Amino acid sequence: MKLRYYPYTLQLRHTFTLATSSRTTTPVVLVEIESDGLVGYGEASLPPYLPETQESVMQFLATLQLDSYTLATPMDNVLAAVMGSENRDCAAKAAVDIALHDIYGKAMGKAWWQEWGLSLDNLPHTSFTIGIDTPACMAEKTHEAAGFGLIKVKLGTPQDRESIAAIRSVSDAPICVDVNQGWSDKYEALDKLHWCKEQGVVFAEQPMPKHDDESMAWLHQHTPIPLIADESFQRLADLPRVASLFDGVNIKLMKCTGLHEAHQIANEAHRLGLKVMLGCMTETSCAISAAAQLSPLADWTDLDGNLLISNDCFRGATLSNGKVVPTTLAGIGVEKI
Ligand code: MG
Repeated sequence: MKLRYYPYTLQLRHTFTLATSSRTTTPVVLVEIESDGLVGYGEASLPPYLPETQESVMQFLATLQLDSYTLATPMDNVLAAVMGSENRDCAAKAAVDIALHDIYGKAMGKAWWQEWGLSLDNLPHTSFTIGIDTPACMAEKTHEAAGFGLIKVKLGTPQDRESIAAIRSVSDAPICVDVNQGWSDKYEALDKLHWCKEQGVVFAEQPMPKHDDESMAWLHQHTPIPLIADESFQRLADLPRVASLFDGVNIKLMKCTGLHEAHQIANEAHRLGLKVMLGCMTETSCAISAAAQLSPLADWTDLDGNLLISNDCFRGATLSNGKVVPTTLAGIGVEKI
């Protein structure tokens, strides 16, 4: 197998504002694995609030020795060699995992959702994200969400109630909120959750700081709506701890080293009675289409990362009636543009 990789900068259509930061670009590294006349594509997305960078990803990739493998080698053997035992370089590993799933899927002639025995009949709605802005701009952006079955609102600033009210002034669609650790007082958080419920909010992501397990445990006992772990949850090994603090988990390929572990997490989360949300970073249609292979296993998806950029270099999963639908193409179902 030949491994190639190069840096690429995603241009965002709108400035993206969270409780903690604001930006107009996202650096990524694109990966290609070639073997036996086939090419598999992968991607690492590297938003600035996470530890990995284009440099660290390329340093990691430079250490990999894939030359001795062919598609006759079982994929799990190659994956095990790439993953190693250290819990670091997760996005870099995800890029290789995605490219391996793409090329092995192409060799099988099957999309991964088919290989996993999943059906596209009951796909969950995907959310359309509205970043923190003035209430007037948020109301304006809500019009762009027409056709989506779920609107995702970023909270965690002093204007939380105004943000929800602005959206409610123009739309009755179900809302989910992502606080990005922005509430620090559990009593105030509970107050806001009750208010959110009255406003038709169906669940809340990461209300409290990720290390404040004590406040989360209390909030989890009292909350009127499901609470989903994002920053508090990364890998399969985190599931038992998170299961006592939240009602569900947000699985992202870049956090959990890719499709192999994400598939395990989705199945194990359901076994533990947890809800499954499938999320993303700003990514091209490469990583989004990879994540979409798992969408039949999700209760909600938040796979709009490719819609937020103006220089997507892949074509893949499509948006149809507010749902992200993987293609029937083999592998992760993408074509390079
Ligand atoms: Mg989140």
